Amino acid sequence: MTTKPRIVVIGAGAFGGWTALHLLRRGARVILVDAWGPGNARASSGGETRIIRASYGPDRIYVQLVARALQLWRENEQHWQRKLYHRIGCLRMVGSDDPYENATVPILREAGVAFETLPHAELVRRFPQINFEGVMWAVLESDAGYLKARRACEAVLEGFQAEGGEFRALRADPGRIASGRMAGIRLSDGTALEADQYVFACGPWLGELFPDVIGDRIKPTRQEVFLFGTPAGDARFTDDGLPAFIDRSGPQFYGIPGNQWRGLKLADDDRGPVFDPTAGDRMPTNEGIEAARRYLEFRFPGMKGAPLVEARVCQYENSRDGHFIVDRHPDAPAVWLVGGGSGHGFKHGPAVGEMVAGLVLDDKSPDPFFSLARHGIKLG
Ligand SMILES: Cc1cc2nc3c(=O)[nH]c(=O)nc-3n(C[C@H](O)[C@H](O)[C@H](O)COP(=O)(O)OP(=O)(O)OC[C@H]3O[C@@H](n4cnc5c(N)ncnc54)[C@H](O)[C@@H]3O)c2cc1C
Repeated sequence: MTTKPRIVVIGAGAFGGWTALHLLRRGARVILVDAWGPGNARASSGGETRIIRASYGPDRIYVQLVARALQLWRENEQHWQRKLYHRIGCLRMVGSDDPYENATVPILREAGVAFETLPHAELVRRFPQINFEGVMWAVLESDAGYLKARRACEAVLEGFQAEGGEFRALRADPGRIASGRMAGIRLSDGTALEADQYVFACGPWLGELFPDVIGDRIKPTRQEVFLFGTPAGDARFTDDGLPAFIDRSGPQFYGIPGNQWRGLKLADDDRGPVFDPTAGDRMPTNEGIEAARRYLEFRFPGMKGAPLVEARVCQYENSRDGHFIVDRHPDAPAVWLVGGGSGHGFKHGPAVGEMVAGLVLDDKSPDPFFSLARHGIKLG
């Protein structure tokens, strides 16, 4: 009789939660640990919504991951009877002959993604509520849209527990690493846990937990998010009339209409200052509000004077090149480090979780694209 492998996953965000669920479904005994809970207000997976889209410039690997993730989002929301994916499309606005955006088109075609490229005149015809000044063309993906964020993390945890997984709401610290192995993890209630393998999916905290190996290879930055109230009874700016959008024409804003009746979400994708995810001040700045309002009124003239109805401060957990990190700890091969979502990780959660579960249980090497070697760390 074979015994089930025992795995501890630390972090119940988009990466850790789905990893724990996939490990469990593949027959492991899994304990999931999170200091503040899935999609909590400090986590990078917190808040209401995230965009899902497949346009990734020349990076084929993400297009394939999104395609798999979309399939898994659909299957699991059906399984749980919970709506998490809102298929409202996503419009990626391009200013000029941007090589990154030009690279997207053949890759989307090759991957079978449903999309159209729309020239300026067609954009003006289809979306009269948008001022397309400075936009030459756009990619409109019809299977794109938005995902519920914190609620999806909650759904994953509930699914995990319903299928027999164990959850502990505690802080975990890695044990001492010596002779190629880690001596378990220490929990904030004073207990310790030992397992066959460990997955640390601690988002913006990963550098703090592994200062030598990760350190500032994952840098949290402060990001402000605003929700503006739409005019009463006006569907032009809700998810009935507008797709999610990413503006690459100059200002790097993106937005999501609807958000469960919360308003039109707008955020600047430019990286803010370095941020402490545990104790950082989460009050939005006046400059941030003004910049968002300027963009809103320029791109969506019908939203002029719209009230700010909600705001929050989140953080991106940026790797140096913006690509995910999925690898073994160089001094302890049974310890996996998973993170570096870099402002685009959420949508990939189910596919990253599946990939990590496969690496852990099948004793495989990660794709070099996600390896620590890429970030200047060599395996010991
Ligand atoms: C404002 C904003 C907008 C974004 N927009 C998009 C988007 O539109 N589309 C998209 O795909 N992605 C987007 N992202 C990125 C995406 O949300 C993140 O990359 C992703 O959620 C990161 O998930 P994670 O599991 O790595 O980290 P987290 O969600 O931060 O999860 C880490 C978890 O680890 C726990 N933890 C940390 N340390 C410990 C410890 N020592 N012990 C126990 N638990 C611990 C934390 O409590 C936390 O729950 C956005 C991010 C932000 C902030």
